[in-house]
Amino acid sequence: MLPWAAELARAAYLPMTRSDLHRFLTGTAVGLAHAAAAEPPDVEECRRLGVSLVDADLVAADVLPATVRALGHHLVGLARSAGAERPGDAVPAVQAAVVDGYLTRIRARILDEQEMMRQAEIRARRQTESALRSSDARFRAIFANAGIGIGIADMEGQIVEANASFATMLGYGLGEFRRLRVTDFVYPDDTAGMWDMYQEIIAGKRDTAHVEKRYRHRDGGVVWTNLTASLIRDAAGAPVYTVAMVEDITTRRELQERLRRQALHDPLTLLPNRTLFQDRLSAAFARPGSRVGICYLDLDRFKAVNDRLGHDVGDALLIAVAARLDECVSTRGHLVARMGGDEFVVLVEDPPEGEMAALADTVLAVLTPPVDVDEHSLSVSASVGVVECAVDEMTPAEALKAADVTLYWAKSEGRDQWAGFDPERNARDMTRYALSANLLPGLERDEFQVEYQPIVGLADGRPRGVEALVRWAHPTLGWLSPDQFIGLAEETGSIVPLGRRVLVESCERAAEWNLAHPGADLYMSVNLAVRQAHDPDLVADVARVLEKTGLPPRLLQLEITESALLGPAGRPVEAIKALADMGIRIAVDDFGTGYSNLGYLPRLPLHTLKLAGVFVEGLRNSTTGADPIVASLIALAHALGLGVTAEGVETPAQAERLRAGGCDSAQGWLYARAAPWDEIVTLLDGRRLPPA
Ligand code: C2E
Ligand code: MG
Ligand code: MG
Repeated sequence: MLPWAAELARAAYLPMTRSDLHRFLTGTAVGLAHAAAAEPPDVEECRRLGVSLVDADLVAADVLPATVRALGHHLVGLARSAGAERPGDAVPAVQAAVVDGYLTRIRARILDEQEMMRQAEIRARRQTESALRSSDARFRAIFANAGIGIGIADMEGQIVEANASFATMLGYGLGEFRRLRVTDFVYPDDTAGMWDMYQEIIAGKRDTAHVEKRYRHRDGGVVWTNLTASLIRDAAGAPVYTVAMVEDITTRRELQERLRRQALHDPLTLLPNRTLFQDRLSAAFARPGSRVGICYLDLDRFKAVNDRLGHDVGDALLIAVAARLDECVSTRGHLVARMGGDEFVVLVEDPPEGEMAALADTVLAVLTPPVDVDEHSLSVSASVGVVECAVDEMTPAEALKAADVTLYWAKSEGRDQWAGFDPERNARDMTRYALSANLLPGLERDEFQVEYQPIVGLADGRPRGVEALVRWAHPTLGWLSPDQFIGLAEETGSIVPLGRRVLVESCERAAEWNLAHPGADLYMSVNLAVRQAHDPDLVADVARVLEKTGLPPRLLQLEITESALLGPAGRPVEAIKALADMGIRIAVDDFGTGYSNLGYLPRLPLHTLKLAGVFVEGLRNSTTGADPIVASLIALAHALGLGVTAEGVETPAQAERLRAGGCDSAQGWLYARAAPWDEIVTLLDGRRLPPA
């Protein structure tokens, strides 16, 4: 039977090793030989052996033909050796039985496999269906119970499905809601473009859209939602439904709105606040070619109300004022805001001619009637700064600053009035501000210089003294005269160190010069500002300077204006007395332009009156005789034992008439202009000063 095994092995893939196959086929061949040798042939055994081939998985296509061929070739011999008497007779029966067994078995096996496959298919289908059913159920559950509203509409806009959330959100029962149409939810305020987007979805041009949309609740209220609309297409891609998913954001919107209002409004008066005002101001300035008006208002003496009557009354007053302002300003179409404290501001966009003045008048007028708070009847007034400009003239910040500055002009001019912005005045103020800020640094940088002007005896034309006059060599503004900065230095207090600097330098000069010209007795006249006269260190300072420079006190003259000589109670300032006691000459500068109250003269320790230039100016044109006023002033001074120096003498005629009137000395351009010390020294030396 070896050839059979070899043939089978060649014929097809066999599921066993060569030796296993050989063993198996040998056994089968022996079995078949014995079955064939039986009398009659044991066909049942042959069928069984056919079946065993299939059971051994020898089922490839060539197995059966090869088996039949092998039996045909070898069975006779095998059967004979197994003892068959007529082996040839048995071969067909054996072949038939083996084939029958093999085929029967293989058919049964195919049927089994088919059944198994059928069962598997049924199982798989059942599983799929159940999975589908549960997923559909899940989706239904999600749809029905979702917190957000979901609605499906057909392409005609008819709602075909909606969940309870959507219906409840808008106050409907599910049944009636499902009968509505998409267009029943048009809201007049729907964001621009929202319905265009919907149309684009309907037309299949876009698949989703996301907008904030408000719906009308059945009870008439407003429901704000986040709406996501999307398109559902069929298998062929044609649009079939639109789906709307809406989330109720009404509460969130209301909260946002409340916060926004709080951020932009003043909680006390409910007026717009500074932030909102600034926004509107910037917006107004962003419109090219337009004009903007600002009316900045500050209540007069509001602090006193707060301090005396308490903050509750102050608050009530502010509320009342805000209401009055709002009423009169809003009707004119302007915005009024509270900037903080007792400051309010009105914004006028493109003010018509005269509107700002009219507005300011109105604002002052509406505040005039007293405000009743509890049992108090409070009279209020305000100071108002008004600015109007084209938007390309200033920035919003500059305009606001200008209004603020103008408000302070109104305040300083007496309150309860309005002032209009004046760019020139502002520029002057700015210069003043810049100057006053630079006074001390300038002093540190040694930018101040002292010039000197001789004071001459009218009888003989010989120098008696010099006046020290300070100048500022400003790095950018050039040579500044004291009129431009002494007032500022007074206000800021820097006059004290500045005055000390002048005093030291001028005393050094005078001491040095007098040392070189013994007996000449040239005095140094130094101006003393009001503030210096009240400086507690003044007396000690002056004493120290005199001691340090060695200038005798009688050769120092301090020029003080009338107002600086007298204290608040009309009493002479202590320091002046102390200085006079030291032997220093005290002169009244610009005499006749201050108090003009001669009564104080005898009570002061004075040495000289300096007749203000205005009196001397009057002497310029008339040619003869002494001026009666000047003459009587001189007589008065002499009666009190005081010397008289005339200021601003420019012409010989003035000098002559002063001399005729008995005036002792004079200073002015007729003799010399103020000049640096070196020039003055040459002048003094050239004047044939009395020999030592
Ligand atoms: P003042 O003390 O009355 O000084 C006289 C002013 O008249 C000086 O002006 C002087 O230059 C000017 N003057 C002199 N002769 C003539 C003249 O013939 N015609 C005219 N039109 N003017 C003449 P200046 O130097 O500009 O000083 C102005 C004022 O500044 C001074 O008035 C004084 O009050 C103040 N001042 C100057 N230097 C000082 C200082 O060191 N300390 C203080 N506290 N004030 C000073
Ligand atoms: Mg003077
Ligand atoms: Mg003077």
